[in-house]
Amino acid sequence: MRASKALLTFDVVTLMPEMFLAISDYGVTGRAFKENIVNLNLWNPREFSMDLHKTVDDRTYGGGPGMLMTADPLVKSIEAAKKRQDKLGLKNSKVIHMTPRGKLLSHNEIKRLLSCEGLVIITSRYEGIDERVNNWVDEEVSIGDYVLSGGELPAMTMMDCLIRQLPGVLNDDESATQDSFVNGLLDHSHFTRPEIFKKMKVPEVLLSGDHEKIRLWRLKESLKLTWIKRPDLLAKKLLTKEEARLLEEIQIEQEQGSI
Ligand code: SAM
Repeated sequence: MRASKALLTFDVVTLMPEMFLAISDYGVTGRAFKENIVNLNLWNPREFSMDLHKTVDDRTYGGGPGMLMTADPLVKSIEAAKKRQDKLGLKNSKVIHMTPRGKLLSHNEIKRLLSCEGLVIITSRYEGIDERVNNWVDEEVSIGDYVLSGGELPAMTMMDCLIRQLPGVLNDDESATQDSFVNGLLDHSHFTRPEIFKKMKVPEVLLSGDHEKIRLWRLKESLKLTWIKRPDLLAKKLLTKEEARLLEEIQIEQEQGSI
């Protein structure tokens, strides 16, 4: 058990706190919470509602379908969460609203957010939040150009990406550095036992024990997968001489029809 201060503290504003068991109690992220590498506090706006029925939503001005989260319980939750983060003395603490209109989440955005010791994350429901709540928001983040029913899954997606980048979370710290997008490429293919599965063999080079040959094969495989599946990533990447040479080989092989 890690006794010192958590590396990253999340304060999440949500109407559905139970959903966060999915991240706090399971797998790699669950272990990170258990070992106090990260810390999570949940704030339910319903508990800040002054209304007898604990109402947190209302109809939108101007009419139209759907309800909206009202400002007062949300702002009270954000202020309470922020106060707690300030008391802990967390550096670079930010308030983030998960919303389809936010900046698209990417590996670079995750790296940037890792400079924060604390994040207050607002997850909304219904049609979203009263626009005036944005005066309490530092950043808006989207997980993609599609709409989910609530911000909880987007928040957990961002939290999971952040957590696995923290030192001590993965059994082998190197494995996060070899993931897709870290060096601007997709990850290479992987194989495990048995050596032959339904007449399909593992590539010979991976059984050779020759580390340099394996490194080159993996790099070429990464380049090949990126070239075929995500050429947009290659267009943005500054290739090393070795990568440029391997990519040229791949393009020739493709012209010859061997891939
Ligand atoms: N009316 C909103 C719109 O069209 O932009 C969608 C509201 S959605 C049904 C309810 C909530 O889910 C949003 O306020 C937001 O918190 C969350 N949400 C939905 N899609 C999201 C996405 N792609 N990224 C981040 N959060 C999202």
